[in-house]
Parts: sequence; C-alpha cells; structure tokens
Amino acid sequence: MSIHFQDLISDKNILSALKTEGYDTPTPIQAQAIPAALAERDIMASAQTGSGKTAAFLLPTLQRLTRRSEKAGKGPRALVLTPTRELAAQVEKNAQAYARNMKWFRTVSIVGGSSFGYQLRALSKPVDLVVATPGRLMDLMKSGKIDFDRLEVLVLDEADRMLDMGFIDDIETIVEATPADRQTLLFSATWDGAVGKLARKLTQNPEVIEIERVDDQGKIEEQLLYCDDKRHKNRLLDHILRDANIDQVVIFTSTKAMTEVLADELYEKGFAANCLHGDMPQGWRNRTLMDLRKGRCKILVATDVAARGIDVPTITHVINYDLPKQAEDYVHRIGRTGRAGRTGLAVTFAEVGEHIKVHKIEKYIARRLPELTIEGMEPTRKRSKGGDKPKGGKGHWGGKGGFDKDKKPYGKKEGFKSAHHKEGGKGKPKDGGKGRAFESKGKSFDARSKKAQSARKSPHA
Ligand code: AMP
Repeated sequence: MSIHFQDLISDKNILSALKTEGYDTPTPIQAQAIPAALAERDIMASAQTGSGKTAAFLLPTLQRLTRRSEKAGKGPRALVLTPTRELAAQVEKNAQAYARNMKWFRTVSIVGGSSFGYQLRALSKPVDLVVATPGRLMDLMKSGKIDFDRLEVLVLDEADRMLDMGFIDDIETIVEATPADRQTLLFSATWDGAVGKLARKLTQNPEVIEIERVDDQGKIEEQLLYCDDKRHKNRLLDHILRDANIDQVVIFTSTKAMTEVLADELYEKGFAANCLHGDMPQGWRNRTLMDLRKGRCKILVATDVAARGIDVPTITHVINYDLPKQAEDYVHRIGRTGRAGRTGLAVTFAEVGEHIKVHKIEKYIARRLPELTIEGMEPTRKRSKGGDKPKGGKGHWGGKGGFDKDKKPYGKKEGFKSAHHKEGGKGKPKDGGKGRAFESKGKSFDARSKKAQSARKSPHA
C-alpha cells in the first residue's frame, strides 16, 4: 500500500499546496524524513539532489511553524543553510510554493550578491524562515541584525558541499548562536570525514536516513567517451550538440575561465550558448537561470558551484566536458538532468590519460560507466597500463550496427542550432561572435544576447 501526503501531513493548507504543485505521493526520502521530523527528531539524511529532499525538510518545518511561537521576538523560527545562492533561491521558491496558502508566512533570503540594506529591512519585521548562505549570514550576524532566540529548526542542505567550500568555521559560529534545544536536520551526499564529525556534533540521537542514489533509479543514462586531446574532445562535443534530440544541455567545465572560453567557442560555431559561474554579478546569474528556465538558453556552460541547485526539468543532457575534481560532484552534475520523473543522458569526456580519475568516479558511484565511441571519431592514443579498453561492439555510436542503430542518439540530421545560426545563415552570430566583455570585480565575462546587452545598463546587473 502506498503512502499519501495525507498520511504524513495534517495541515490542510500545506496539503492543498502540494495538490497545486501536482505532488501525488511522497518520494522515499519524504516518506522517511517527514514523520521523523514531525516527531521532532534530529535527522541525518543522505539523499541526492532530485530525490525530493527539499520538500522532505520544508514540509515538516512548515507544519511545525503553524503552531505559534512560545517566544517573543522577530528572529527566524527556522533557518536553512545552503552552499550556494542558486540553491538558496530554489529552497526559498519551494518554501513559498508549499506555504502559498499560509498568508502569515514570511521568508527572507540572506545571500551574497543581493542588497545588504534590503536584507536588513526584511529582517526588521518578524520572519518565519530564513534561507541563507553562510558567508552573508555571518556578515549580518556580525552587525547584530539577526537573532536566533526564537529558532526552532536548523537545516543544513548539502552539508558536505558547504564544508568543501570552506564554510566549516562559519557554520560552527552560526550553530553556536542558535538555541541548544533546536531541531537539527542535516542533508548530505556523504557522511565521510569532516561532515560526519560535524553531524555527530550538531545532532542528538538523530534518525539516520539512507536513500538509494538518484542515479541508481535508472532515469539517467550515462555514457563515457575517451578522447585524445582537447581538439578531439571539441569534435566529439560538436557532434553530440548537433543531435536533434537535445532540448537543453548543461556542459560542465572545471574552471570559471573555461566556461567563458567554451561558451564563446560554441557561440562562434552558431550554438545558443551561455555561461554561468560565480564571478558573474548576481543579477546576471539570475537572468541566465531565467533564460534557461524559459527555454531561451539551450546550452549552459557552467562550473560545479554555479550549477548547483539548478532544477529545470527540460534539461535533457548533461555533458562533463572536464571531469569533476571530486567524484561526488559527478553525482550532482548528472542530477541536473532526469528531473521531475523525466529521463536524461549524461555524457562524460575523459582524455586517455585521465582513466584514474574515471576509476575514482566509478568507485564512488559503485558501477562502471558504459564506455562508447563514435564511429570514425575513435581515440587513437593508447591508454597507459591499467586503463581498460572499451568493450567495442555494442558500445558504439553512429553509423551502422552498434549502439545507435535503433536508438539514433546523435544523428547528424537537423542539428541543434541557435537562433543566430538560423537567422544568420552561415552559422555565425550576427555580432561576429565576439560577445561583449563585462567587468565584474576585476574579472570579465562575455555577453551573448540582446537581453544581456540591456542587462548591462540595468542598475541591478
Ligand atoms: P529536490 O531533490 O528537492 O531538488 O527535488 C527534485 C524535484 O522533484 C523538484 O522539481 C521538486 O519540485 C520535485 N518533487 C519533490 N517532491 C515531489 C513529489 N512528492 N512528487 C513530485 N515531485 C516532487
């Protein structure tokens, strides 16, 4: 017998909001976390992005907030800490959706890149939920403008990631400022190392919840392509991007600079590509994400951190142009596709000398990545000792026989081209593809659309 939200949540307003959201049944993490959180237990949950973890901590927290606070004051009754602004925005958006019928509910987002004054003003009235990144929250705490006397629930979302980003001291300071009798809900991809240590320190007799990895649920098809060098990699990328089945794709590179270089190169080839990285002004990042959401951006070239929290169901493909630095980032990256019950394809490029890194990822995800080649574009360089060869036969792309005979994952038919390409005829953007350089804290990035041009004039950009 399947569980329904009515079995877990009693508040009518929340239930009706879930109906509006189109949520039928709780996901496994929700089915386990919601009852434990409602029983006011601390939680240590290892759940991946895409598992429904946000609702798993927000729904019981919102239901708890429907009871009046026993303490006077204006400070937040619940605090969610996230590693990035994008994830904070996503959490806040979800909270507002689930609380759409709770007219009294007030949420404030405390993240870098937004106006300090605005955030201070927002905190001058009583607030129920604060969603924050640790750095900016610390700045506000130092100015004495936020107090946690009323705090009942503390959530750390993607705790492992926050530690990877060096937020350990900030987190400890923030936690110190919260009441000891708070409820603590921790979500992390792993509890290995420092994050496990921190979790044990922050929680009391926690309910430990382990959920099957999203990628184990078979929604995301994975493929590994070895290449000789960057030129070969670019040829493979070009071939894949001309696949008519691609709706939207996120391409991951290892550096901020590379997101710009690659987005430029793709743009010059006629693809509608934009970049997203942490040195871009917040207004610009928001606009890029909006363009992605609205389908105006087909190809997003991004860094790991900037892309975290992107929840766009129409992303059909993820391409790991550069291998992730850490194996767990692989899971987060591919989780950008196959969302909201859809299927997705995650393609990983590795240079022949990088097979050790590939093995590390495979060890982490506890399975082999299916290795494929594209007919006529196979790598010619040999892998050093220890690197396994592709199995051949079934693992082929393109041409006759092999993998895509029936599936045709990457046909060369229509291509996947930008509006510029179509309008401009020869595949060159109208401005010659140079883009326009914008300055941001001494670093530049390129604008690639008319919208971007107008954004430059905007005081918020
Ligand atoms: P998350 O893992 O929190 O990033 O959620 C992944 C996606 O699943 C988001 O688009 C959510 O809106 C959606 N989602 C969360 N819970 C449910 C549910 N019970 N039924 C359907 N969709 C859900």
